[in-house]
Amino acid sequence: MSKTINVTVWNEFRHEKSNDAVKALYPDGMHAVIAAGLEKSGNINCRLAALDDPEHGLTQEVIDSTDVMIWWGHCAHAEVDDEIVKRVQKRVLEGMGLIVLHSGHFAKIFKALLGTNCSLKWREVAEKERLWNLEPSHPITQGIGDYIELPNTEMYGERFDIPTPDKVIFISWFEGGEVFRSGCTFTRGHGKIFYFRPGHETYPIFHNPEIIKVITNAANWAAPTIIKEDICPNTQPLETLSEKNVDFGKAGVVQASEL
Ligand code: ZN
Repeated sequence: MSKTINVTVWNEFRHEKSNDAVKALYPDGMHAVIAAGLEKSGNINCRLAALDDPEHGLTQEVIDSTDVMIWWGHCAHAEVDDEIVKRVQKRVLEGMGLIVLHSGHFAKIFKALLGTNCSLKWREVAEKERLWNLEPSHPITQGIGDYIELPNTEMYGERFDIPTPDKVIFISWFEGGEVFRSGCTFTRGHGKIFYFRPGHETYPIFHNPEIIKVITNAANWAAPTIIKEDICPNTQPLETLSEKNVDFGKAGVVQASEL
Protein backbone atom coordinates (compact mmCIF):
# COMPACT_ATOMS: atom_id res chain seq x y z
CA MET A 1 0.00 0.00 0.00
CA SER A 2 1.36 3.39 -0.94
CA LYS A 3 1.79 6.05 1.73
CA THR A 4 -1.14 8.35 2.47
CA ILE A 5 -1.04 11.61 0.52
CA ASN A 6 -2.93 14.74 1.52
CA VAL A 7 -4.11 16.57 -1.57
CA THR A 8 -5.73 20.01 -1.67
CA VAL A 9 -7.81 20.43 -4.82
CA TRP A 10 -8.08 24.16 -5.56
CA ASN A 11 -10.70 25.37 -7.99
CA GLU A 12 -11.67 28.84 -9.07
CA PHE A 13 -15.26 27.45 -8.92
CA ARG A 14 -16.95 30.21 -10.91
CA HIS A 15 -18.02 28.62 -14.23
CA GLU A 16 -19.96 25.95 -12.32
CA LYS A 17 -22.07 28.69 -10.73
CA SER A 18 -22.61 30.88 -13.80
CA ASN A 19 -22.84 28.47 -16.76
CA ASP A 20 -25.69 25.91 -16.88
CA ALA A 21 -23.76 23.49 -19.12
CA VAL A 22 -20.84 23.43 -16.70
CA LYS A 23 -23.19 23.19 -13.72
CA ALA A 24 -24.85 20.13 -15.29
CA LEU A 25 -21.49 18.38 -15.64
CA TYR A 26 -20.09 19.48 -12.29
CA PRO A 27 -22.92 20.46 -9.92
CA ASP A 28 -20.57 20.53 -6.91
CA GLY A 29 -17.60 21.83 -8.89
CA MET A 30 -14.80 20.24 -10.89
CA HIS A 31 -12.73 20.00 -7.71
CA ALA A 32 -15.35 17.71 -6.10
CA VAL A 33 -15.26 15.32 -9.09
CA ILE A 34 -11.45 15.31 -9.19
CA ALA A 35 -11.30 14.67 -5.43
CA ALA A 36 -13.82 11.82 -5.58
CA GLY A 37 -11.83 10.24 -8.42
CA LEU A 38 -8.51 10.52 -6.59
CA GLU A 39 -9.90 9.14 -3.34
CA LYS A 40 -10.91 5.91 -5.12
CA SER A 41 -7.20 5.06 -5.22
CA GLY A 42 -7.30 4.42 -1.46
CA ASN A 43 -4.17 6.31 -0.39
CA ILE A 44 -5.21 9.88 -1.20
CA ASN A 45 -7.12 12.19 1.18
CA CYS A 46 -8.55 15.23 -0.54
CA ARG A 47 -9.54 18.62 0.80
CA LEU A 48 -11.41 21.14 -1.37
CA ALA A 49 -10.49 24.82 -1.61
CA ALA A 50 -11.96 27.58 -3.78
CA LEU A 51 -11.26 31.18 -4.74
CA ASP A 52 -14.22 32.58 -2.78
CA ASP A 53 -13.30 30.79 0.46
CA PRO A 54 -11.58 32.94 3.11
CA GLU A 55 -7.90 33.23 2.06
CA HIS A 56 -8.97 31.26 -1.05
CA GLY A 57 -9.14 28.19 1.22
CA LEU A 58 -5.33 28.28 1.42
CA THR A 59 -4.54 29.28 4.99
CA GLN A 60 -1.02 28.59 6.21
CA GLU A 61 -2.43 25.68 8.19
CA VAL A 62 -3.94 24.15 5.04
CA ILE A 63 -0.73 24.62 3.09
CA ASP A 64 1.41 23.16 5.86
CA SER A 65 -0.70 20.00 5.85
CA THR A 66 -0.81 19.63 2.05
CA ASP A 67 1.50 17.19 0.27
CA VAL A 68 0.25 17.96 -3.23
CA MET A 69 -1.88 20.85 -4.48
CA ILE A 70 -4.00 20.64 -7.63
CA TRP A 71 -4.88 23.93 -9.35
CA TRP A 72 -7.72 24.72 -11.76
CA GLY A 73 -8.36 28.35 -12.71
CA HIS A 74 -9.51 30.23 -15.80
CA CYS A 75 -11.54 33.45 -15.70
CA ALA A 76 -10.41 34.88 -12.38
CA HIS A 77 -6.63 34.40 -12.23
CA ALA A 78 -6.25 38.12 -11.45
CA GLU A 79 -8.41 37.76 -8.33
CA VAL A 80 -5.95 35.43 -6.66
CA ASP A 81 -4.20 37.37 -3.90
CA ASP A 82 -0.47 37.85 -4.53
CA GLU A 83 0.33 37.08 -0.88
CA ILE A 84 -1.34 33.70 -1.19
CA VAL A 85 0.50 33.01 -4.44
CA LYS A 86 3.75 33.72 -2.57
CA ARG A 87 2.65 31.38 0.22
CA VAL A 88 2.01 28.54 -2.24
CA GLN A 89 5.21 29.24 -4.17
CA LYS A 90 7.28 29.14 -0.96
CA ARG A 91 5.79 25.78 -0.05
CA VAL A 92 6.48 24.34 -3.52
CA LEU A 93 10.12 25.44 -3.22
CA GLU A 94 10.19 23.67 0.16
CA GLY A 95 8.95 20.43 -1.40
CA MET A 96 5.15 20.46 -1.85
CA GLY A 97 3.98 18.96 -5.14
CA LEU A 98 1.86 21.01 -7.57
CA ILE A 99 -0.37 19.78 -10.39
CA VAL A 100 -1.63 22.53 -12.69
CA LEU A 101 -4.55 21.65 -14.92
CA HIS A 102 -5.65 23.04 -18.29
CA SER A 103 -6.26 26.82 -18.19
CA GLY A 104 -4.14 26.97 -15.06
CA HIS A 105 -1.33 27.63 -17.57
CA PHE A 106 -2.13 31.31 -16.96
CA ALA A 107 -2.45 31.00 -13.17
CA LYS A 108 -0.26 33.39 -11.19
CA ILE A 109 1.29 30.48 -9.30
CA PHE A 110 2.30 28.66 -12.52
CA LYS A 111 3.79 31.79 -14.10
CA ALA A 112 5.61 32.66 -10.87
CA LEU A 113 7.21 29.24 -10.70
CA LEU A 114 8.06 28.96 -14.40
CA GLY A 115 9.01 32.58 -15.07
CA THR A 116 7.73 32.72 -18.65
CA ASN A 117 4.52 33.94 -20.31
CA CYS A 118 2.96 30.44 -20.51
CA SER A 119 0.95 31.58 -23.56
CA LEU A 120 -0.37 29.20 -26.23
CA LYS A 121 -2.79 28.97 -29.18
CA TRP A 122 -6.38 27.92 -28.50
CA ARG A 123 -9.67 27.18 -30.28
CA GLU A 124 -12.95 25.84 -28.95
CA VAL A 125 -14.80 23.73 -31.55
CA ALA A 126 -15.15 20.39 -29.71
CA GLU A 127 -12.51 18.65 -31.82
CA LYS A 128 -10.82 15.34 -31.13
CA GLU A 129 -7.57 15.16 -29.15
CA ARG A 130 -5.14 12.27 -28.92
CA LEU A 131 -2.59 12.49 -26.11
CA TRP A 132 0.43 10.34 -26.98
CA ASN A 133 2.21 8.70 -24.08
CA LEU A 134 5.90 9.48 -24.59
CA GLU A 135 7.18 8.06 -21.29
CA PRO A 136 5.54 4.68 -20.62
CA SER A 137 8.06 3.91 -17.86
CA HIS A 138 7.31 7.14 -15.95
CA PRO A 139 5.26 6.88 -12.72
CA ILE A 140 2.70 9.32 -14.16
CA THR A 141 1.79 7.03 -17.07
CA GLN A 142 1.40 3.75 -15.21
CA GLY A 143 -1.79 2.01 -16.37
CA ILE A 144 -2.05 4.23 -19.45
CA GLY A 145 -1.64 2.78 -22.93
CA ASP A 146 -0.01 4.28 -26.01
CA TYR A 147 -2.45 7.17 -26.00
CA ILE A 148 -5.56 8.68 -24.45
CA GLU A 149 -8.28 9.81 -26.82
CA LEU A 150 -10.76 12.56 -25.98
CA PRO A 151 -13.62 12.89 -28.52
CA ASN A 152 -14.36 16.56 -27.80
CA THR A 153 -11.91 19.07 -26.43
CA GLU A 154 -10.79 22.64 -26.62
CA MET A 155 -7.57 22.83 -28.67
CA TYR A 156 -4.33 24.14 -27.17
CA GLY A 157 -1.52 24.52 -29.71
CA GLU A 158 2.20 25.23 -29.75
CA ARG A 159 4.11 27.27 -29.20
CA PHE A 160 3.50 26.87 -25.49
CA ASP A 161 5.75 29.51 -23.91
CA ILE A 162 7.22 27.48 -21.05
CA PRO A 163 10.83 26.79 -20.06
CA THR A 164 12.12 23.45 -21.38
CA PRO A 165 10.41 20.85 -19.14
CA ASP A 166 12.35 18.21 -17.19
CA LYS A 167 10.27 15.69 -19.16
CA VAL A 168 7.50 15.88 -21.71
CA ILE A 169 5.19 13.03 -20.70
CA PHE A 170 2.36 13.54 -23.21
CA ILE A 171 2.18 15.28 -26.55
CA SER A 172 -1.26 15.98 -28.01
CA TRP A 173 -2.45 15.83 -31.57
CA PHE A 174 -5.61 17.73 -32.48
CA GLU A 175 -8.02 17.12 -35.31
CA GLY A 176 -7.33 20.63 -36.61
CA GLY A 177 -3.63 19.84 -37.06
CA GLU A 178 -1.92 21.41 -34.04
CA VAL A 179 0.25 19.64 -31.49
CA PHE A 180 0.87 20.52 -27.84
CA ARG A 181 3.10 19.45 -24.95
CA SER A 182 0.17 18.29 -22.83
CA GLY A 183 1.98 16.68 -19.93
CA CYS A 184 5.17 18.31 -18.65
CA THR A 185 7.20 17.93 -15.46
CA PHE A 186 9.31 20.60 -13.81
CA THR A 187 11.32 20.85 -10.61
CA ARG A 188 11.47 24.08 -8.64
CA GLY A 189 13.44 23.99 -5.40
CA HIS A 190 12.48 20.69 -3.77
CA GLY A 191 9.02 20.69 -5.34
CA LYS A 192 7.80 18.62 -8.26
CA ILE A 193 5.39 20.24 -10.70
CA PHE A 194 3.22 18.55 -13.32
CA TYR A 195 1.27 20.49 -15.93
CA PHE A 196 -1.57 18.46 -17.50
CA ARG A 197 -3.55 20.03 -20.34
CA PRO A 198 -7.01 18.35 -20.40
CA GLY A 199 -9.83 19.84 -18.39
CA HIS A 200 -11.92 22.36 -20.29
CA GLU A 201 -15.01 23.07 -18.18
CA THR A 202 -17.70 22.44 -20.80
CA TYR A 203 -16.62 18.84 -21.51
CA PRO A 204 -16.80 15.88 -19.10
CA ILE A 205 -13.01 15.56 -19.00
CA PHE A 206 -12.75 14.94 -15.24
CA HIS A 207 -15.34 12.16 -15.49
CA ASN A 208 -12.91 10.27 -17.74
CA PRO A 209 -11.23 7.46 -15.74
CA GLU A 210 -7.97 7.69 -17.75
CA ILE A 211 -7.65 11.41 -16.97
CA ILE A 212 -8.29 10.71 -13.29
CA LYS A 213 -5.73 7.88 -13.44
CA VAL A 214 -3.06 10.28 -14.75
CA ILE A 215 -3.85 12.87 -12.05
CA THR A 216 -3.80 10.14 -9.37
CA ASN A 217 -0.43 8.90 -10.61
CA ALA A 218 0.84 12.49 -10.71
CA ALA A 219 -0.25 13.11 -7.10
CA ASN A 220 1.70 10.03 -6.00
CA TRP A 221 4.72 11.13 -8.06
CA ALA A 222 4.65 14.75 -6.83
CA ALA A 223 4.31 13.92 -3.13
CA PRO A 224 7.26 15.40 -1.23
CA THR A 225 10.31 13.34 -0.42
CA ILE A 226 11.39 16.13 1.95
CA ILE A 227 10.04 19.46 3.14
CA LYS A 228 12.95 21.81 3.69
CA GLU A 229 12.67 25.47 4.56
CA ASP A 230 15.05 27.72 2.65
CA ILE A 231 17.95 29.20 4.62
CA CYS A 232 21.10 31.00 3.52
CA PRO A 233 23.60 30.59 6.39
CA ASN A 234 27.08 31.97 6.88
CA THR A 235 28.92 28.76 7.72
CA GLN A 236 32.11 27.59 9.41
CA PRO A 237 34.53 25.26 7.54
CA LEU A 238 34.38 21.55 8.35
CA GLU A 239 38.18 21.18 8.14
CA THR A 240 40.92 23.21 9.82
CA LEU A 241 42.05 25.67 7.20
CA SER A 242 45.69 26.70 6.79
CA GLU A 243 46.38 30.30 7.76
CA LYS A 244 45.36 32.62 4.98
CA ASN A 245 47.22 35.65 3.76
CA VAL A 246 44.96 38.32 5.17
CA ASP A 247 46.61 41.00 3.05
CA PHE A 248 45.62 39.05 -0.07
CA GLY A 249 42.13 38.91 1.29
CA LYS A 250 42.13 42.70 1.49
CA ALA A 251 43.54 43.23 -1.99
CA GLY A 252 41.91 46.17 -3.63
CA VAL A 253 40.73 47.61 -0.34
CA VAL A 254 42.36 50.95 0.38
CA GLN A 255 44.05 50.78 3.78
CA ALA A 256 43.81 53.66 6.23
CA SER A 257 47.64 54.09 6.12
CA GLU A 258 47.51 54.69 2.36
CA LEU A 259 45.08 57.56 2.56
ZN1 ZN B 1 -10.55 25.76 -21.47
